[in-house]
Amino acid sequence: MSGQAEISELLNLSARLGRDPLLVQASSGNTSIKLEGTLWIKASGKWLAHATEADTLVPVRLDELQVSLSENDGFSTAGAMVGGDYLRASIETAMHAVLPHKVVIHVHSVNTISWAVRRDGEERLAERLGGLAWCWIPYVASGMPLARMIERALAGTPSATIFVLANHGLVVCGADCRDAEERLAEVERRLAVPARCCCDRATMEPMPGWGLPESPEMHALGIDAVSRRILTGGILYPCQVMFLGPRVVSLSEPEGAAGSVPFALVEGRGVVTSRRMTASQRAVLNGLMHVVQRIEPSAPIRYLSETEVVNLLTEDAHGYHACAERNAQQASVSNAR
Ligand SMILES: [Zn+2]
Repeated sequence: MSGQAEISELLNLSARLGRDPLLVQASSGNTSIKLEGTLWIKASGKWLAHATEADTLVPVRLDELQVSLSENDGFSTAGAMVGGDYLRASIETAMHAVLPHKVVIHVHSVNTISWAVRRDGEERLAERLGGLAWCWIPYVASGMPLARMIERALAGTPSATIFVLANHGLVVCGADCRDAEERLAEVERRLAVPARCCCDRATMEPMPGWGLPESPEMHALGIDAVSRRILTGGILYPCQVMFLGPRVVSLSEPEGAAGSVPFALVEGRGVVTSRRMTASQRAVLNGLMHVVQRIEPSAPIRYLSETEVVNLLTEDAHGYHACAERNAQQASVSNAR
């Protein structure tokens, strides 16, 4: 297969993944392929869902990335001119570069995250992923810290092709797109969890100053006491805080908080949303709903620490959200599922 055909295959795969709200929300997730000394990787802030319609991949020389890795410089400048625009390579470029496999897929799989936010996640996953070459990666910040953890895991398990990132998501590798996609499907099959509560009894009516979520199933988060407890207990993963803020508000009457948060839980009744909610925020909230509905009521949850949350908020979360939102408009994608 020619290099161009392999890139097309990756773009098609990326778009399929990006359109599955159980795998990718907004601009999250990234894919890459290594071809003749070049890493083709998703650009920062781009949506995988639009991969076949908009410039999405950035070519970066692998030898230059190796120099950056050896100098520990953080890859802040990796990028290239593509279609007349300068595209910055994904924040996870370092991780893709240290993985020796040709194709790497990183997704925010809601099934995986529902296990990966547990303190006992590693033990629980050992039961489900038995026989597969996988590693548990304790939570670290994206970028160079995550790349170093993956390197360390690979040193211990050189055959590993699956990495579960605590409080974050999933990385799956393959010899080509098909191999990686099949492996992803196998992991998804083994980690699948049914959603706890489906909400057909929502009584939420519009409240002054607030809108309502697009999908009525979102009201489960306010009706289901377990979901409310999980959400108000802390922050589960980075995208949650970067797009939806550092706390979840739960109110008996929501008027007081209108406008100050992207959404609020209304105890026993449902969810209200800010009228200014962006497409990215809607996609991330939809993913959060799917995750929370899959966490067992008795699960011991490991929330992000206060320091981890502050670090995420100081890493230009606002700029990243704005970038993701600019890219949201490039194609219309339905996240209804
Ligand atoms: Zn990620």
